[in-house]
Amino acid sequence: MHTFNTAFKLNAAPAVILPGGPTVSYAQLAAMVAHLQTMFAAGPIAGQSSVAMALPNGLEFTAAFLAVVANGMIASPLNPAYTKAEFDFYLQDLNTRVILVPQGTFAANGPIVQAAKDHGAYVVEVAYRGDRVEYVVFGKAGEVARSGGAAPLSVATRPAASVAQLAGTSRPDDIALILHTSGTTGRPKAVPLTHRNLLQSMDNIAQTYSLTPRDRSYVVMPLFHVHGLIGALLSTLYTNGAAIIPPKFSAKAFWGDFAAGDATWYSAVPTIHTILLNTPPPAKTKIRFIRSCSAALAPVTLARLEEKFGVPVLEAYAMTEAAHQMCLNPLAAQGPHKAGTVGLAQGAIEVVILSAEGDQVLGRGEVGEIAIRGENVTRGYLNNPAANAEAFSQQGYFRTGDQGKFDSEGYLTITGRIKELINRGGEKISPIELDGLMLAHPAVGEAVSFGVEDAKYGQVVQAAVVLKKGASLSEKEFQAYLRKKVAAFKVPERIYFVEALPKTATGKIQRRIIAQAFVAKPK
Ligand code: ATP
Ligand code: MG
Repeated sequence: MHTFNTAFKLNAAPAVILPGGPTVSYAQLAAMVAHLQTMFAAGPIAGQSSVAMALPNGLEFTAAFLAVVANGMIASPLNPAYTKAEFDFYLQDLNTRVILVPQGTFAANGPIVQAAKDHGAYVVEVAYRGDRVEYVVFGKAGEVARSGGAAPLSVATRPAASVAQLAGTSRPDDIALILHTSGTTGRPKAVPLTHRNLLQSMDNIAQTYSLTPRDRSYVVMPLFHVHGLIGALLSTLYTNGAAIIPPKFSAKAFWGDFAAGDATWYSAVPTIHTILLNTPPPAKTKIRFIRSCSAALAPVTLARLEEKFGVPVLEAYAMTEAAHQMCLNPLAAQGPHKAGTVGLAQGAIEVVILSAEGDQVLGRGEVGEIAIRGENVTRGYLNNPAANAEAFSQQGYFRTGDQGKFDSEGYLTITGRIKELINRGGEKISPIELDGLMLAHPAVGEAVSFGVEDAKYGQVVQAAVVLKKGASLSEKEFQAYLRKKVAAFKVPERIYFVEALPKTATGKIQRRIIAQAFVAKPK
């Protein structure tokens, strides 16, 4: 078994491309990582088991992540935009004493620095300067404790092997990464993932999309969640391809960067795809496919994307606890992709449907809780015995909390999160199905349905909608339209027209928060 490691093929092929900035080869990246590793092995960071990282997407993140993991420490990427209270929660939850941040952070004395001081943690600024990534440590009280100036290791001292190959110390079951879930349904949960989990997942993704060294991924998802980190960045490095990394997603810069970097694919949440529908189709690019993941992609959005951009749009199903991908729609050579489904179970991962009572494995066509088993799956949440007791079935399946069913060809359809399904007087309504129908209306830009408590039915359906610019639609007109598409009990009793919908940092629409916002509203 291999351990996730940083021993790349040391060649001149590009590893990281910064739009409008330098291109860093595998040889250069390996030297940067080796340099950071040497620095991490001395000074206040030496001997730490875990390192938090509040770095934006980019080269510093990539080099620092690889160096932390290669030194046998646990990396915990965090959203740099968190508030003080959020940093307090994460630093406490992770019990970490080192935080990597971008240059200039200490002087700015913002939320991360204040949280670090309260928590007694070192603030470590990481910066790319000329030809290497260096760091400066700020002590707990603010003094400069140690400045990183060690000479970089010579490139020739690094073994020439692929990222998947292990250099000696094989500890595949050590934890490499702790990431928090997106917090869509409640407080984010800390998920430890081992080297084995990461490798299995990178391998799965590489095989799914036949990734080769010729592939280049335009990385627009944040690297502090599995989608960006494993689904885009690590799976690309694993296959010796290039990662084109802008600091963040920008619709304006998207196709220009994409073409200039010779990108062949990108992966994103439906929110980003929807924004891109308003951008001009790319003139000339090497795009092979678009991957959609992390939230339901309405069939109508998939169809519009394929029409506009002329490549297959492949929806996948993933979660933090599975180190990302579980099901996928394949490339044409391996079978058809089907809109409205998240595709087939990933080869090495067992995906089953369990009955609500008694954990029976159900057959194709039967609806139940989606559960998984495989080498990519976490062994359990960090410090959370209550959640762990609920999470695993007797047969060792991890319960996803999502409801779904397989069709006769083994394609999985997700009907919703079990906690978010709407129960109107015993009639179960899938919010995902309803959202898709609403999005098909030409005036609708974004739409979300949810259950609201009701004295008569227990729950009733309501919805919030963002109209496209310049479009107009009344509640009554929209209800009449929907009544022609679905049974009357599924048609939202109230439809609120709003400016924007609240989303998580990964761009997922927060159904729970929206439902709470409308609960108290009188009719
Ligand atoms: P939390 O667990 O904190 O509530 P979260 O579940 O959103 O947040 P993630 O691990 O980022 O955190 O997301 C995994 C979940 O995202 C899945 O359990 C599923 O509900 C949803 N999801 C992922 N891919 C898809 C998809 N293609 N279609 C529908 N839902 C998806
Ligand atoms: Mg979850």
